[in-house]
Amino acid sequence: MTITYEYEGALYVNLTNKCNCNCEFCLRHGKAEGSIYTEDSLWLEREPTRDEALASFLGRDVCSYREIVFCGYGEPTYRLDDLLWLVDELKARFADKLPPVRINTNGHANLINGRSVCPELEGRIDTLSISLNSTNAADYVALCHPVQGEAAYQAMLDFARESAKYVPNVVMTIVDKDKTAEEIDLCRRIAADLGVTLRVRSFIDS
Ligand code: SF4
Repeated sequence: MTITYEYEGALYVNLTNKCNCNCEFCLRHGKAEGSIYTEDSLWLEREPTRDEALASFLGRDVCSYREIVFCGYGEPTYRLDDLLWLVDELKARFADKLPPVRINTNGHANLINGRSVCPELEGRIDTLSISLNSTNAADYVALCHPVQGEAAYQAMLDFARESAKYVPNVVMTIVDKDKTAEEIDLCRRIAADLGVTLRVRSFIDS
């Protein structure tokens, strides 16, 4: 079972395969040649305990990585309490030597956890990478199929805006495939209005 894995100099963490979305472009749907995401081992036969995840970290030279990224084959904020516990444990051991910590997320942490979790990120998470994906709720649902329907789009925007008060670097991302220049411009304006930046990612063909 792969809990932590290296990718391009960063240490990635895979705590859960759960997700409330079923994105059309999700790398879980297919195989991308040469990508870490082809690893069958990213499918967990069970979720690791927080202690197993900590042991996986401590078996590595944690401070040698450029970044720690909670990502995985699923939405990591399903395990937010454990994720934050792990960050606290690592900070207690490595303090300022700990690499910056990022969460790659669909932005539904507040929906998933039933509370505003944003204040809990302060001092623990350095970067949030939130998938924006669409310029409006209808397109978002058509692309990402969240179980909460169109409400998930506004919840994601609200999460981004609120998180920016607590997390130094909040980035929204879109995948360039099937996006017009006008849509990309609109995404930039949406991100700017929320007080965050936009990153346009290339599509990894699957
Ligand atoms: S939110 Fe992420 S893990 Fe969930 S379906 Fe979409 S791409 Fe896959």
